[in-house]
Amino acid sequence: MQDRWVWSKCEFSVASARRLIDDQRMPYVSTKTRWVTVVSIKVNVHAWKVKIDRLPTRINISRRGMDIDSILCLSCNAAVESVSHVFFSCHIARDVFRLISNWWDYDYIELSLYEDWFVWLLNLRISSNHKKLIKGVCFISWWYRTKASFSWVD
Ligand SMILES: [Zn+2]
Repeated sequence: MQDRWVWSKCEFSVASARRLIDDQRMPYVSTKTRWVTVVSIKVNVHAWKVKIDRLPTRINISRRGMDIDSILCLSCNAAVESVSHVFFSCHIARDVFRLISNWWDYDYIELSLYEDWFVWLLNLRISSNHKKLIKGVCFISWWYRTKASFSWVD
């Protein structure tokens, strides 16, 4: 028999390929990958890396065995520089989220983890289009937090 290409899961579609990738390569991620179309791809990819904790924070660099001077947050020097700290529990992240909450007229709540933010977003009683916008605003704030604080983003 001559070689041929076969998509063994079902009839091929981009959605079935994405499901396969999500199931095989990201089993620890409990939600589907969805881009927010109101922001650029690089901002979406950055937000996805926040979600799966794949940014080169000092703790992640240290975990990979690189010798670095300190694993503390460059901004506050009061906690380990992790994704959760940089984007959710550092005072700078909380100040920015407080401003976003005031701007969009939402009650401010203190977040510590990506999952806290995700639950907050899920529980907002607003239209899905409005949710996409606030999600995009948060993604952009994370992007600029990274650009302002770290040299590892262009
Ligand atoms: Zn900090």
